[in-house]
Amino acid sequence: MAIAPRYGSMPDKRETLLIEKTMKTDGDYAESLSSEKFPLCQSDQWIVEHTSDGYVLHRIRRDIRKVYLEVTTRCNLRCANCVRNTWDEELADMSTETFNRVIDSLRDLPELREVYFGGFGEPLLHPKIEEMVRQVKSLGVRISMSTNGTLLTEEKTKALVDARIDRLFVSMDSTQAQLFSELRGGANFDLVVENVKRIRDIRERKGYRMPTIGLEFVVTDKNIKDIKNLPSLAREIGASIILLTHLLPHNEQAARQIAYGGNNIEIPRPEGWAIMAGDYVMWGTLSTPRSKWGAYRHCRFVNDKGIVIAWDGGVSPCYALMHSYPYFVFGERKRVKRYLLGNVNEKSLSDIWTGEEYVLFRSKVQNFRFPSCVDCGANCDLRQNNEDCWANSPSCADCLWAQDIVRCP
Ligand code: SF4
Ligand code: SF4
Ligand code: SF4
Repeated sequence: MAIAPRYGSMPDKRETLLIEKTMKTDGDYAESLSSEKFPLCQSDQWIVEHTSDGYVLHRIRRDIRKVYLEVTTRCNLRCANCVRNTWDEELADMSTETFNRVIDSLRDLPELREVYFGGFGEPLLHPKIEEMVRQVKSLGVRISMSTNGTLLTEEKTKALVDARIDRLFVSMDSTQAQLFSELRGGANFDLVVENVKRIRDIRERKGYRMPTIGLEFVVTDKNIKDIKNLPSLAREIGASIILLTHLLPHNEQAARQIAYGGNNIEIPRPEGWAIMAGDYVMWGTLSTPRSKWGAYRHCRFVNDKGIVIAWDGGVSPCYALMHSYPYFVFGERKRVKRYLLGNVNEKSLSDIWTGEEYVLFRSKVQNFRFPSCVDCGANCDLRQNNEDCWANSPSCADCLWAQDIVRCP
């Protein structure tokens, strides 16, 4: 069999290599790949992907950069559109055994940059959250967390600041007390605002620049007019990042509240703002989501080398596939089935990451080999089960994250 590398012959730094077939064969191509005709580094391991044109070689690398960690699926609030209202999964905390397995796995990741405490639940409800943050921080990585902001007591906030958490994102879906409470499952706006100010004050008393405070705002037709008020609230409470995302509706009522897809929807882009952080002046940034379905698709989870670990140790490629639940995409109801690639209680993260199934899934997502359901127009029920007409299961064909319509920090 003759194999010709498409891009030169010294792929020592490349993660993937395309090989075109120059002759049809049923033979043992693995032998040919390591022959002198094709000087691959012998010490490397590669996974071979068959394609219609030839082969793609994927270098096996333990190059996870970001880990999203769901330490609990419990929450103290009951937001009307919470995904947890629609699933029949357990509401539980990550056990100490599972967390210890996670820590062991993280030690074995040479390129790890960030651990993000998030997922579907309130991380601050976990009884050992402060200790968990300290243990992860001792690995020398950046730590971020999403919280609903209601449980940031003085004691917890001091512990997080002392553990040198780097970024704290607080859900802030309105600048008006009544609407905030309506959208945030009865949460008290004034309490959350005071809690965020306390992070800033403790940070300043200690002379730290961190944590950076971010506000997460889920845009709907109910609060879109409120966006213009966000920078002044952010300035007042010491937040330097505002992340806007559209709503991922989990019920029919919420599906009618989306603020994307229509022709007249325009997300306001307010001015930036300056805030003090220690001796520094920081310029606040507000980032906006895309509001229409488009041709360009890009998965931040896969392309940024992220991986998601659920409370029970189950490993998935992204938030979208980490649980089984229903949601609506442009009014179409679909049901996602949890997609697991392993469990940290049984295998290390690097073994899961370098497993053939995961490597080939990432390749498919990086090259976005999926159809585009939203603008297809066919009356097809495959997408309702998160499958598609190109035989993908799970499918990313109508993923709102890949469109940057739904986002997370
Ligand atoms: S704060 Fe988040 S996890 Fe808690 S109920 Fe609301 S949406 Fe669900
Ligand atoms: S799965 Fe294929 S046929 Fe069905 S909606 Fe998506 S693109 Fe269209
Ligand atoms: S494209 Fe969407 S469903 Fe696919 S891996 Fe990325 S976030 Fe998950």
